[in-house]
Amino acid sequence: MILILKSDVTEQQVAHVIERVESMGLRAHLSRGSQRTIVGIIGEEDKTRETPLRAIPGVADVIPVLPPYKLASREAHPQESVVEVAGVKVGGGFLAMIAGPCSVEEPERMDRIAKAVRAAGANIFRGGAFKPRTSPYAFQGLGLEGLKILQTVGRKYGMPVVTEVTDPRVVETVAEYADMLQIGARNMQNFVLLTEVGKTHKPVLLKRGMSATVNDWLMSAEYVLSEGNSSVVLCERGVKGFDNATRNLFDVASVALVKRLSHLPVIVDPSHATGRPDLIPACSLAGLAVGADGVHIEVHDCPEEAKSDGPQALLPTDYDALMQRMRQLANLMEKTISQS
Ligand code: PEP
Ligand code: MN
Repeated sequence: MILILKSDVTEQQVAHVIERVESMGLRAHLSRGSQRTIVGIIGEEDKTRETPLRAIPGVADVIPVLPPYKLASREAHPQESVVEVAGVKVGGGFLAMIAGPCSVEEPERMDRIAKAVRAAGANIFRGGAFKPRTSPYAFQGLGLEGLKILQTVGRKYGMPVVTEVTDPRVVETVAEYADMLQIGARNMQNFVLLTEVGKTHKPVLLKRGMSATVNDWLMSAEYVLSEGNSSVVLCERGVKGFDNATRNLFDVASVALVKRLSHLPVIVDPSHATGRPDLIPACSLAGLAVGADGVHIEVHDCPEEAKSDGPQALLPTDYDALMQRMRQLANLMEKTISQS
């Protein structure tokens, strides 16, 4: 931590700053320049957490040396993490190919979609049983019944399943049926929920909030990691932009950036990022090209009948064609699509 002192700081204030630093059990290194005086704090940065350093008289600015997301940072863990989802590896050269409808629907339809995406090469099946809808009048999901359908179908086709958990009170129930817990964009900063999923031993798919900075996103991952759950996969699903030509703004650069800042796997979700099936192939390939550890895509066999997000769903045949291109790119990049 570096403290930049005000240009008109008094000698008395400098002495007070040093005294405060030393009272925290840390060492202060004073450096007087021609324009500014700075104080370097030597020792564990954590010890300063409880003290509002900016409020000490004479302090103009506080510059942290280490990122605030200690456990999620590359500094903490230089090697890429590999997260295992019931045998399917994600990260460190292994790609997650997550596919399935937005919502869990009736068993026959789920069976058809699962069969198709499995044949195309998907390795994790998705479907929302608890849906976080913008409108309280929209379809809210099949709940417990949906979890059972998803698990049964996933097992039948040999794919682990991921589903969203929207409420801390149902984390335990969802964890009973799902192999991976999804935290949706709308809940990325639901800290009670993050803490609860952090207490489970299930891998977590942490979507980026629609107005979340990269720092906010990594701090949310830190909530899960700090509870002892080290299996976090990040998912870029688009952020709010100024232009409604696409549903969201696909922030592909953030994927490359987060891969540098963190050891955690990062995947892309071009379905929610673009909201347009015709843009999903290009954005999926772009995501993999910048280093994403997987692609999350909504697939439906009859989008016009979908209970949610039909307009952005990819048809199974189009998913199959895209998977063929993604496999070629994966080979080129020497990455593996792991199977359970
Ligand atoms: C979803 O995956 O269907 C979903 C609701 O995603 P997001 O939280 O990214 O909007
Ligand atoms: Mn959806």
